[in-house]
Amino acid sequence: MTRSLVIAVDGPSGSGKSSVSREVARRLGARYLDTGAMYRAATLWFLQHDVDVHDPDQVRLSVGIPLLEMDTDPQQPSIRLDGVDVGSRIREADVTAAVSYVSAVPELRARLVELQRTAVADAIGTGFGIVVEGRDIGRVVLPDADVKIFLTADVDVRAERRHREEVERGSAVDAAGAMSSITDRDAIDTTRAASPLLKAEDAVVIDATELGIEDVVGLILELADARDLRH
Ligand code: C5P
Repeated sequence: MTRSLVIAVDGPSGSGKSSVSREVARRLGARYLDTGAMYRAATLWFLQHDVDVHDPDQVRLSVGIPLLEMDTDPQQPSIRLDGVDVGSRIREADVTAAVSYVSAVPELRARLVELQRTAVADAIGTGFGIVVEGRDIGRVVLPDADVKIFLTADVDVRAERRHREEVERGSAVDAAGAMSSITDRDAIDTTRAASPLLKAEDAVVIDATELGIEDVVGLILELADARDLRH
């Protein structure tokens, strides 16, 4: 990478955003930020501290408290909550079931967006590009990103992918459970008032229904190359 490219990757659950974004960052020698992990870690904190995740007023009162620290090395990305690595814990079913309710609270979004922009500024300040993945990156967090991708896939493919990941993690979620988890989160994430999941006008849509991770990575690297040469 000849300059610090900022790449935004948005899309629904199970579209392959994490694997693809991490690999693109690795290939470009850039940093990688998983913003979903930040919403998940905040959700874990609320669950651990008996905050009712379905009550936005309760969530609002505590948004400033959890201490989140992210390592953006794509070889070994990590997230710590109050000093504890919670990378695996935040993928468990209780967090997954609660995260979209918590993510709809504007005050939490405002705090995490600030942390996300700081992580991007830190990467650029130290000479790195960065790939940032989430739901609102191209429209809200980084509207000036150099490359914006909206990565999607048919819901059957996304649910199947999520189910496979759950099985690999040793979770008890079955195929029907993976499907309802995906459709429930899609519904909340796309209809919430605060920063709903929507394609940015200038984002390039990649439909990964029939593509493998390597194909999608290749497409994004081509777009990044073209953008880099134009500067
Ligand atoms: O990407 P992941 O599935 O881990 O994200 C978990 C949840 O976090 C999403 O379903 C969504 O509710 C929320 N999220 C968000 N904005 C982001 C990233 C994630 O609202 N930028």
